[in-house]
Amino acid sequence: MEIRSIRGMNDILPEDSILWKQVRDTMHYVLGSYGFREILIPVLEETRLFQRGIGETTDIVEKEMYTFEDKSGQSLTLRPEATASIVRAYVQHHLYASGKVEKLYFWGPMFRYERPQKGRYRQFYQIDVEAFGSNDPTLDTDIIASLYDFLTTLNVPGVTIEINSLGCPNCRPAYHKALKAYFSDKIDKLCPDCKSRLVRNPLRILDCKVETCHELALKAPNIHEFLCDTCKNHFQGVQSYLEDLHIPTRLNPMMVRGLDYYVQTTFEAVSENLGAQNAVAGGGRYDGLVKQLGGPDIPGIGYAMGMERLIMILQDIRKEPLSWPCDLFIATLGDKARRYGITLASKIRKEGKVCEFSYEPKSLKALMKLANRLNARFTAIIGEDELQRKEIVLRNMATREQTTLPVDDTLTEKITGLLDG
Ligand code: ATP
Ligand code: MG
Repeated sequence: MEIRSIRGMNDILPEDSILWKQVRDTMHYVLGSYGFREILIPVLEETRLFQRGIGETTDIVEKEMYTFEDKSGQSLTLRPEATASIVRAYVQHHLYASGKVEKLYFWGPMFRYERPQKGRYRQFYQIDVEAFGSNDPTLDTDIIASLYDFLTTLNVPGVTIEINSLGCPNCRPAYHKALKAYFSDKIDKLCPDCKSRLVRNPLRILDCKVETCHELALKAPNIHEFLCDTCKNHFQGVQSYLEDLHIPTRLNPMMVRGLDYYVQTTFEAVSENLGAQNAVAGGGRYDGLVKQLGGPDIPGIGYAMGMERLIMILQDIRKEPLSWPCDLFIATLGDKARRYGITLASKIRKEGKVCEFSYEPKSLKALMKLANRLNARFTAIIGEDELQRKEIVLRNMATREQTTLPVDDTLTEKITGLLDG
């Protein structure tokens, strides 16, 4: 019986993965230019890391975690996000000891038990970016700028950064109180989730997607009337630096983000192309998190980008699908030609060209078909008779132009020269 993949967990096949690779290449390139360094973290962590690191009142911890016991009875969880794990690693390996601002990035699968639908899966991929060691608004600015640069380098259309400040432990309690007071006499109109949010974390109601809750939230007290001077100045700093960088931002006082650890700056990147699930990436400042997970009192800020939603946008705007590159296909006719061809392929590859080979014996017609299927830019045709005459034919697949080349010590050089056009 055929065994199929688990619901909400997808295979990414080569015809799509080429675009994924392009995104990853851009990630290394853009984040690298900011001085971010790559970190790799495990898929599994102790469950309590996420309970403590993400927060008990979040959707992720309340409803979405893949938690199970291993053979020793220890409770483990498949990571639903990367920040908690990266903070754990930062603390565990004393990365703060260097005294510098540590800028890290990561790419990998995350796991959440959600109802699978378009743009929402149980295994999905995130690019995660984190920075530790400064509360200065210039760091917030660089983090947001790296996100904006990343998306614009990929030609994502209509990118806007929605930003907000959630205040800090000094000013937020008063805002909590005001929200509680506002929603308390409207409790009958709140959805069941928000009824419990009202008690546990009223901020979260602002984020509710249920229409009636959303309508009430629109008229709720505004966080910006409650920010203390420190938070106000910090936020103004971030806004004005982003303006200097010409990054389009929109203040969204309703954006609270789904995680408990955020303070001050929060942000989301939205694209005009995404519809209902229009956030491609989101993040914020988490100044208390390193301490909460057993480290020193060091501030941090970061964001996570959903790969699938980004890929959806990129596929939408792309007119022709990308294909894996093939500079040269070596088409051989007969045993002697195959023997010569496999060595030639090896030489061409050493010159940094993508070279494919005709593994299975085929007629010339079938080989040309294969060349097209491989998307080869050029095909080297090596026939038995030509080889006897110490010649091969190089065919430009787009123009159908053919060049006869002598088989001698300069052949590899000549071919790579023609490939470079
Ligand atoms: P949402 O409000 O859509 O549930 P979220 O607040 O749970 O998003 P984050 O935890 O901030 O999302 O994750 C950052 C990004 O990861 C999201 O903007 C989205 O692109 C992506 N993402 C989150 N959950 C999923 C999922 N189940 N499937 C695919 N991508 C996801
Ligand atoms: Mg979610």
